[in-house]
Amino acid sequence: MFALVGRGARYTYLTTNKTTYNKTIKMLFQSKTDKKEWNPELTSEQLHVLKDKGTEAPGTGKYLYNDRTGVYTCANCDAPLYRSETKFDSGCGWPAFNGEIKGALKYKKDFSHGMMRTEIMCAKCGGHLGHEFKGEGWNKRLNLPNDSRHCVNSLSLNFKKEE
Ligand SMILES: [Zn+2]
Repeated sequence: MFALVGRGARYTYLTTNKTTYNKTIKMLFQSKTDKKEWNPELTSEQLHVLKDKGTEAPGTGKYLYNDRTGVYTCANCDAPLYRSETKFDSGCGWPAFNGEIKGALKYKKDFSHGMMRTEIMCAKCGGHLGHEFKGEGWNKRLNLPNDSRHCVNSLSLNFKKEE
């Protein structure tokens, strides 16, 4: 007997032998990011965003209007992600950044909710941050150095102020 398990375009036939089955299931579903460790101090709202790739309600994030100088770090693992100089007001309801600290992020195509977006994650821990959007004309509208908008959940961030 066979069971068919699919993930995207890949299909694997599994026998009913439990060991093989469990091993294959692990290979299919235990990607690197499943080994993430979650900071016990995170709230359930933060875990919903960082771990389950949720989105905070627009206009509610605590860093939306933060205009202080400093560094935004990952709320889960504390890795530095964004400099305050790259933050801008996009009017979209979430903190927006024009570029990350070099090497801080991982990018992944995201086809959920009928959209084609680019998911952005912390490169160190894999925590979900938000999405990157290109081609919106920010370089021309606000004279930014490039045309990238990183739409980031405040719940995924901590902020370290610099004097
Ligand atoms: Zn992280």
